[in-house]
Amino acid sequence: MVHITPMFRQYLEIKEKYPDAILFFRLGDFYEMFFEDAELASRILDIALTSRDKGTKEKVPMCGVPAANAAHYINRLVSAGYKVAICEQVEDPKQAKGIVKREVIRVVTPGLNLDEETLTSKDNRFLVSLFPGKAWGMAHLDLSTGDFKVTEIHSEEEMLNELFRLEPKEILLPETLKDSALERKIRELIPHIFISYRVFINAKQRAEELIKERYQVADLTGFGLSQAPAALCAAATLLDYVIETQKEVSSHLGVPKFYYLSQFLIIDEATKRNLEILRNNLDGSLKGSLLWVLDKTLTPMGGRLLKEWLLYPLRNLESIEARLEAVAYLVDEPSKRKNLRELLARIADVERLTGRAAMGVANPRDLLALKDSLKMVPQLKELLPEKISPLLDAIKENLLVPGDLVQNLEKTIREEAPVNFKEGGVIKDGVHEELDELRRLKDDALSFLAELETRERARTGIPNLKVGYNRVFGYYIEVSKSHLSKVPDNYIRKQTLVGGERFITPELKEFEAKVLSADERIKELEQELFLEIRKNVAEKAQELKKLARALATLDVLASLAEVAVTNNYIRPKIIEEPGIQIREGRHPVVEKALPSGSFVPNSVKLDLKENVVLVITGPNMAGKSTILRQTALITLLAHVGSFVPAEEATIGLCDRIFSRIGASDQLSRGRSTFMVEMSECANILHQATSRSLVILDEIGRGTSTYDGLAIAWAVAEFLHEKKIMTLFATHYHELVELAGEYPGIKNFNVAVKTFEDQIIFLYRLLPGPASESYGVQVAALAGLPKEVIARAKDILKSLENKTSPPLKAKKEKKRQKSLFSPDDILKRQILGIDPDRLSPLEALQKLYELKALA
Ligand code: ADP
Repeated sequence: MVHITPMFRQYLEIKEKYPDAILFFRLGDFYEMFFEDAELASRILDIALTSRDKGTKEKVPMCGVPAANAAHYINRLVSAGYKVAICEQVEDPKQAKGIVKREVIRVVTPGLNLDEETLTSKDNRFLVSLFPGKAWGMAHLDLSTGDFKVTEIHSEEEMLNELFRLEPKEILLPETLKDSALERKIRELIPHIFISYRVFINAKQRAEELIKERYQVADLTGFGLSQAPAALCAAATLLDYVIETQKEVSSHLGVPKFYYLSQFLIIDEATKRNLEILRNNLDGSLKGSLLWVLDKTLTPMGGRLLKEWLLYPLRNLESIEARLEAVAYLVDEPSKRKNLRELLARIADVERLTGRAAMGVANPRDLLALKDSLKMVPQLKELLPEKISPLLDAIKENLLVPGDLVQNLEKTIREEAPVNFKEGGVIKDGVHEELDELRRLKDDALSFLAELETRERARTGIPNLKVGYNRVFGYYIEVSKSHLSKVPDNYIRKQTLVGGERFITPELKEFEAKVLSADERIKELEQELFLEIRKNVAEKAQELKKLARALATLDVLASLAEVAVTNNYIRPKIIEEPGIQIREGRHPVVEKALPSGSFVPNSVKLDLKENVVLVITGPNMAGKSTILRQTALITLLAHVGSFVPAEEATIGLCDRIFSRIGASDQLSRGRSTFMVEMSECANILHQATSRSLVILDEIGRGTSTYDGLAIAWAVAEFLHEKKIMTLFATHYHELVELAGEYPGIKNFNVAVKTFEDQIIFLYRLLPGPASESYGVQVAALAGLPKEVIARAKDILKSLENKTSPPLKAKKEKKRQKSLFSPDDILKRQILGIDPDRLSPLEALQKLYELKALA
């Protein structure tokens, strides 16, 4: 066996337990990495790769980072998609016999990175665990806030939708799913997701035991988990992973809460993208999204909750009304709202600060911020009304600051405390008797030194004798060269300088010992006291979380009210019966991008009788998509409990909003536009109910005209037959015929006017089909050359007359042919015939015409 140093043996033993993580091995003031870890880390972090003797001849690759700013390096590795295991010296090197004991104290993973540098305040960071049982068990946790939820989902489609809703940073999958089709789908859906393969706890009993033990409960019935074995296994595996990486489960981690997807309006993946709920589709930023208009929250936790509300709109009339009621109150009471918001603006992230305290990472400044926020709570509470809105009542009840937390923090932590509690200077005077005494001793010591200096000057007759301190030699008396002859016998020489000498005396030595030990003891005491204070806060984690939730809810409601007032929104009327009626509705985002007052509002009515499918025609750029989206957004906002941009809106409870709009952003995913379009369409037709709202924009575009038209036609018929409320924008003018055939299909067009060959968009939705296609005018507007436009007009005219297009010139005959082959023209002609409407004579006439064309 090769001989290796004991330190390396220890390293290898530990590394063996964390094969999939980069091991940060603490050596003094540095974290060192070795072997492949070092090669990898030096490359990613761009730091020097060196080598170290491991006791044999060969050298080991090594690199290191200073422990003092390790967080920054850890974040970079984790963001690059690696796990980092942090191995500390867990005993005092001075007291160690032989090699210092070391242990991994935490594993930082992309889903469980709590470092502030990487957390964005208004975003959650989710870790998801997915268990494929009879149903899909899905658990998700945000460790920074302690929110822990589980559900069971029955179809893969829905499961993927839910995953996309959460957009986790990391997912736990059973090893059996490695390299599976599902894994590929997940990576496609959330490209930067980090996948950790785990052996799942797949026995219900073991899972139950783990959860019971962790939460110290005898029975899981109250958790809603007893009937959901897959959810249970997902939750237990997640918990197990947290214990393994964090070494403990801290007090702020809530019990896993079971939720049903059916409690919420479902917004699938495509709809979340299409409606640009959280970010725009252009560059993926916030600007131009619904959230961008809506987020006027003032606290980070409010910001996170608003997002949750937008992604999980409600389906329960009472709960929606409760929110609307509260928003209405805050709308009607502008001065209340203003005062509340002024206070909210001064409140920090109570939720995450609590998390940090519970996880043992909060610093003195964190606790001060927490205290300052908590101080605001009674005033907030005072401002809230009573018995006007049940939701505001509930918030008021939960605005409770636990015990004497504020007083305790106020009494103990100094306002000027440093970030790092180990530096000292954290604890106030009057908290701890011994600490006070030691501090007094130190203060006395300072005057003692001054006194000593004066005394010795007088005794020795050396006028410039100085008492000083340095870290290597401690306290000393300095005498310059010219006075060395006067140095008394009891001075012991310590150090020679250019200009003089430094001495110590027994008295000074004794003093030094006293001061240094006092200093050390002060630090020790301060640390102990701080940890205790932090622990006290951690013990209140559950109460503080409840409070944080109440603050967040208040913040969101006040934000909704603020937005409603600023943007002139109204309270929607929510009813049980399916149906949507919007008078003078507006697109919340588009109206913001236009000069004030220039957005043209529109009314839309959908029901299950005469207005099931609205076919909307009109040229490109006329405003069709805008009407579709605004209808969907208003419906969504109503289910969130928000006011809506309209003059009046009555919204029947929906189960889902479906959308099929554009496909450009998906091209990168390697599926053809048409394929994406059709699979989204299939999904809608399979799942939509008469409680769903469907918006379809230009379906059938990705294929040949006739295929596309045929598909669009059949889809519209299907939606009508199944009574699925649909807004159907199309460039297939032929679809206007549908309205004549079916009682529930209606034609609408977005009005445009032509003026001297120019097109003027009026953005008004009017009953009836669009009269012309206007495509050529739009092309002119876009700057196509005049000749092309003129030629296109000719061709258009002949197509409309159902004759073959006039040939421009003989020499271009060939090219023309390829553009409109006789077969195409024939086919078009035949399709244009409606046999039911032809008299026998007309039919004969038509036959002659066709023959002439062939
Ligand atoms: P289409 O779907 O018919 O091609 P869009 O809905 O994309 O048209 O609208 C094109 C542009 O017209 C929008 O980006 C917006 O600037 C403007 N627009 C649309 N609707 C309105 C409206 N109601 N009022 C004012 N401008 C509008």
